[in-house]
Amino acid sequence: YLQLDQLTKSYAKQTILQNINLQLNQGEFLALLGPSGSGKSTMLKLLAGIETPDAGEIRLAKRVLNQVPAHQREIVLLFQQPYLFPFLSVAENIGFGLKARKVASQQIKQKVAELLDLVELSGMQQRKPQQLSGGQQQRIALARALAVQPKVLLLDEPLSSLDPEIRVSLQGVIARLHRELQMTTIIVTHDLSEALALAERTALLINGSLVADLPSIALFERPPNRAAAQFVGVGA
Ligand code: ATP
Ligand code: MG
Repeated sequence: YLQLDQLTKSYAKQTILQNINLQLNQGEFLALLGPSGSGKSTMLKLLAGIETPDAGEIRLAKRVLNQVPAHQREIVLLFQQPYLFPFLSVAENIGFGLKARKVASQQIKQKVAELLDLVELSGMQQRKPQQLSGGQQQRIALARALAVQPKVLLLDEPLSSLDPEIRVSLQGVIARLHRELQMTTIIVTHDLSEALALAERTALLINGSLVADLPSIALFERPPNRAAAQFVGVGA
């Protein structure tokens, strides 16, 4: 469904991603793990169309995306920080992409209410972002991302700036959303337990290369090579 073929990206003379091959089935949930600087965010940016690859191909449902602009890819990227529009209400934030697509305002209103229910923030339409906690803001950003009904959801450490308690409850929200919507999802995380909790499959990126790609539980129980074993901390 989502396919990366020999994807390569350099900044200046430094190769950040080298010949990345990855395939996801529709509805699959993949965790992307790796040390800081290994190229995880870069990989998501290539998929979302925020950066362009130097070589290789990205395909979604057999369509080659390399030349497709970000807003037409049906792939949304949620960052570590929620980046809501500060002067717009929650409802206006969530409805932003729908309004840009000229959806009727009554329909937007309906959709916003549904999305707020989905992220467990019913009735918060009129709040401003600064009147919300960090975890609530991240849930609004998630609702805004889902409003345009993307085919692929990319999450770049969406929980890492939150308190442990809120983190766990948001993990629950993400897990439930995935069960209900069955959206193809990639989550970048540093947190091994988060990968285990959320994703059936985990890929490990080290120094711009994928060194493992296997069921999450297997990465921990039977790391396939030395690099993976070192990363999960079960010795060399
Ligand atoms: P972290 O876990 O810290 O978020 P990451 O795995 O997401 O790390 P990337 O953000 O993909 O890592 O960055 C990979 C490498 O590419 C880093 O060395 C970074 O400095 C470099 N890099 C990222 N973006 C740019 C850019 N626009 N220009 C030059 N170098 C960049
Ligand atoms: Mg990153």
